[in-house]
Amino acid sequence: GLTSTFVSRSLVPTTYTRPRVLRPKSIVPMTVCMDQSRKEKVVVILGATGTGKSRLSVDLATRFSGEIINSDKIQFYNGLEIATNQIPIPERRGVPHHLLGELPVDDSELTASEFRSVASRSISEIASRGKLPIIAGGSNSFVHALLAERFDPETNPFSSKPSISSELRYDCCFLWVDVSVSVLYHYLSKRVDQMMESGMFEELASFYNPRKSPSTVRTGIHKAIGVPEFDRYFGVYPPEENDNVCEWDQARKAAYEEAVHEIKDNTWRLAKKQIERIMMLRSSDWDIQRLDATESLRASSREIWEKNVLKESVKNVKCFLLK
Ligand code: ATP
Repeated sequence: GLTSTFVSRSLVPTTYTRPRVLRPKSIVPMTVCMDQSRKEKVVVILGATGTGKSRLSVDLATRFSGEIINSDKIQFYNGLEIATNQIPIPERRGVPHHLLGELPVDDSELTASEFRSVASRSISEIASRGKLPIIAGGSNSFVHALLAERFDPETNPFSSKPSISSELRYDCCFLWVDVSVSVLYHYLSKRVDQMMESGMFEELASFYNPRKSPSTVRTGIHKAIGVPEFDRYFGVYPPEENDNVCEWDQARKAAYEEAVHEIKDNTWRLAKKQIERIMMLRSSDWDIQRLDATESLRASSREIWEKNVLKESVKNVKCFLLK
């Protein structure tokens, strides 16, 4: 099954064992030590929410016989598929996805160290099947935790005094799906409206737990954008009283609009933070190739996507796999 060990947290290894045995350094010639090909090859797709990371990961996986490892900490959980933007099953086109929608919703939060262990184990398993591991997701602190050669769970690599490791434990091909801020801003706002129309409100309503006071500390999926924003709304207008929208009074409509507005604000805040962190990784010598998805998102065109994003990505991955 799908990385079933992921669910059973007790099986999370505390140390990561390299799949290939290295000879002691003293007898390995320098040229071999520096040979990147000793490290497992992985493709890493970065980008702000809404830019098309999931689509690119599937596009590449189908071409290069890949399997995808999710690195969005909110999408680990089995719930809120709409609110967390989990890629729907038909869009996965049969490509295996790991660490996606697997944890029970009330599980404690997965730490960056735990992610480093489980995801690195997934990488070894995928590679041992002769498949290409593709990491895709928006939690850049987890991406850093997974890839950094040396990882210290106590430090935030993205603090005002960044401490981003430039030494990586994999041979990585980084692709950054980027969209200009003005186009992304409008797209994300529209996307929230579409998510609400396609059932996000109902999803949040059935997730709402009146026994959880708003002051309790949120962890894991309970932090997902949409949950705190609608908690206040449901506190006043409980889910079971939502049947007839036509009968909503002004106050209720205003409370709903306010929650949607907050979701848009927080989504935009998240996108800006993600872009900022990707740029921090880049200035710390991570060799990140930027792909411009602005036009394809603006025109909502598969054709422009293939021309501007996919073709360039395929070229990059081909070179990477040959080197
Ligand atoms: P932090 O250090 O703040 O946890 P991070 O980079 O480790 O940052 P992010 O993945 O950026 O973690 O997520 C930060 C917050 O953004 C989450 O706690 C959640 O509120 C929101 N968020 C992130 N991803 C999603 C998602 N897929 N769906 C809904 N909300 C999300």
